[in-house]
Amino acid sequence: MTTPKDILFELDHMVIKLGKYLRVLGYDAAWNIRLRTHELILKANREGRWFLTRNLQLSDRYPPAHRAMILRPEDPLEQLRAVCARFELDLQSGLFTKCIRCNIVLEDVPDKEQVRSRVHPHVLEQHDRFTRCPHCGTVFWPGSHVRNTCRKQGLSLPGERRTSNADR
Ligand SMILES: [Zn+2]
Repeated sequence: MTTPKDILFELDHMVIKLGKYLRVLGYDAAWNIRLRTHELILKANREGRWFLTRNLQLSDRYPPAHRAMILRPEDPLEQLRAVCARFELDLQSGLFTKCIRCNIVLEDVPDKEQVRSRVHPHVLEQHDRFTRCPHCGTVFWPGSHVRNTCRKQGLSLPGERRTSNADR
């Protein structure tokens, strides 16, 4: 089984939604829409990342990728299934440990008073455990916020529980 500590990904522009799913699962998934395909491949090679791409002609026109997986499905969830199967990804240990926006591991907030100014008083009252992105400062908490974050990113998590109104 492969855990988030074991593998790094670089994604081409066509599979960014897959990258967001990988971040939700706690994996290091990088992309950069300012870089062209050959630059992404070189970056992946340099950083020891698996290059995930939908470009089927990869080998003819670009520098050889040391590690690449070509994805045939168009649907991001199908792509995710293919990647999970290929690498036997651990889907549990890293779940919701990364900032989806920044690709950075979240830090625990030791004292919830520290996030008082960042969250609604109701949320502060309802939850004791908060995490924070050291880069963008976004505060996360379990339950509805994680689900809403995924929804905002256009992600529907396989097997996610329905949100009850009381949890919103
Ligand atoms: Zn962030």
